[in-house]
Amino acid sequence: VIDICDLRKSYRLGDMEVPILHGIDLCVKKGEFVAIMGPSGSGKSTLMNMIGCLDRPTSGKVVLMGKDTCAISDNELAELRGFEIGFVFQSFNLIPRLSAYENVLLPTYSNSKKGHNASQRAKDLLKLVGLDDRMNHRPTELSGGQRQRVAIARSLINEPSLILADEPTGNLDSKTSEEILGIFSELHRNGCTIVMITHDPEMEKYVDRVVHIKDGYIKNN
Ligand code: ATP
Ligand code: MG
Repeated sequence: VIDICDLRKSYRLGDMEVPILHGIDLCVKKGEFVAIMGPSGSGKSTLMNMIGCLDRPTSGKVVLMGKDTCAISDNELAELRGFEIGFVFQSFNLIPRLSAYENVLLPTYSNSKKGHNASQRAKDLLKLVGLDDRMNHRPTELSGGQRQRVAIARSLINEPSLILADEPTGNLDSKTSEEILGIFSELHRNGCTIVMITHDPEMEKYVDRVVHIKDGYIKNN
């Protein structure tokens, strides 16, 4: 599903190029549950942004679902990003003005194919993450864990086959973390491919494989 070859990324800071990723090779098979671990600042979120095509690599190749993401049209890329991949961001990225329910529904507006059952599906997903009594709350009226669960429900609304989650249990207490990991395990059992960035050593028992990243390199694979 994911095939990354010699991926490099530098950021421009003034007139300096600061290299962050130094040639990452990573393959993730269909249905695999992979954890990415590494110290803060090692480039995990940067790598996730490249996998999800939210940002362009400086060099190297990212093949997603058999498509070379550098070679396909912007339209195709938008479709891949919108309908095949579910994102859970490190900082949730919920829209403050919208209720939990409206936030979950948001990604379906651009999706004509799956739009018809969307409102029921949004309700079902909020129920799945245990928020059926919080649908009309806005993000500011929810706890951190509840916001995280809204973000997870939103990532699932278009029924993605690949989920990219950037520290979905960061800043959560251990009970809420366990509930959220339970949701991901269930998705994995149902055939979803999941790549999750995490600092939580407990994750090792949930996943098929751990990839360690340090200073922009993969340590062992
Ligand atoms: P954390 O565990 O704290 O989330 P991370 O492994 O996700 O860390 P990244 O967010 O990928 O780390 O950042 C890696 C490095 O790249 C950091 O040194 C950061 O300062 C730098 N960096 C990230 N995004 C940008 C940007 N848009 N412009 C310039 N530098 C950036
Ligand atoms: Mg990060």
